[in-house]
Amino acid sequence: MENIIEKLAFEFADEMTQIRHVLHRNPELGNCEYKTSALIKEKLTEWGIFHEPMAGTGIKAVIRGKGDNAVLLRADMDALPIKEESGVSFASETDGCMHACGHDMHVACLLGAAKILNNIKDTLNGSVVLIFQPDEEGNGGAERMIKEGVLDKPKVTAAFALHVEPLEETGYLQIKDGSVMASPDDFKITITGAGGHGAYPEKCVNPIDIGARILRRYKTEIKNDPKKRIVTICSFNGGTCRNVIPDTAVLTGTARSLDNETRRELKEKLRSIAEKTAEEMGGKAEFDFNELFPPVINNADMNAVVRRAAAELTCVKGITAPEHAAMTGDDFSYFTECLPSAYFKLGVGNKEAAYPLHSSKFRADDRAMPIGAAILAQTAAEYLM
Ligand SMILES: [Zn+2]
Ligand SMILES: [Zn+2]
Repeated sequence: MENIIEKLAFEFADEMTQIRHVLHRNPELGNCEYKTSALIKEKLTEWGIFHEPMAGTGIKAVIRGKGDNAVLLRADMDALPIKEESGVSFASETDGCMHACGHDMHVACLLGAAKILNNIKDTLNGSVVLIFQPDEEGNGGAERMIKEGVLDKPKVTAAFALHVEPLEETGYLQIKDGSVMASPDDFKITITGAGGHGAYPEKCVNPIDIGARILRRYKTEIKNDPKKRIVTICSFNGGTCRNVIPDTAVLTGTARSLDNETRRELKEKLRSIAEKTAEEMGGKAEFDFNELFPPVINNADMNAVVRRAAAELTCVKGITAPEHAAMTGDDFSYFTECLPSAYFKLGVGNKEAAYPLHSSKFRADDRAMPIGAAILAQTAAEYLM
């Protein structure tokens, strides 16, 4: 028997492509997704789906089925400050702004899923909350939506999201148990020494020497491990000329962990090395740690729901399991922290143009969109079963 969800997904394929191309031409940065939000509202209104604004430019839509259970599907919708060099015919018309993380596709797929689920709502054993979330790349619009009550009315008991993956072929999904993405925290170390003439370092406390020692100790005492943590120093600034020892120097970097315990330990280790090293060398280090998002941790039962849904769809050719989690982050982690959740990847790669996410040359295969819409809708239906 033909799967109705899959059938509808392919019927809506052209409409999803049109939506995506409009969004791709008109990318908007986090919390400024005004045109994006307006287009989503227009479509939901046209299809008679209840929706309300939330978290500024965000939207919560609800499709009501039978019973009290409810499941959440999420799409993020912001673009990046990147000048597009993809060469596609529907490239960005806003200079210096680009959908290089595929969030235009996430919106189009979730709209497709909304239209499918609305068509079959009489068969659903619960409600589906579809959220279009602002500002994933910036400060975490997910947290803001949760604080504004997106998980209540109806009370949501699980959450799912997909992310496009240009390095995976169209037709394939990537699903991984446990940690899938890191907490992408960052830090800043402001080192204060005592400046003076470059000819007399013995009369000074050189903050550049202190910064260099901190950097070396980070390298030797905190081993980077793609299964656990990564620390990278990304800027080191101090001094203005060749013969003056400055008073201060500043190091910044990123500290990524795949679980909460590693995250806590890493933060303390970074702090203690910076402060102790500066003190030993007669200076001072002020350590600022910026906790961005928690790590994304999948629930095995929810991954099983996605796998069962995929098995119902002939358009899903296979599922691969990446060996390592990604060291990038995603604020979907706010959902994985408070609900059993699954975050999986949708292959959108075509062999001739496989550029990674956040590349100015990033391209994604439009043919993946009905697959994305179908897997989202089927997963929601499967969970509510
Ligand atoms: Zn991104
Ligand atoms: Zn993204």
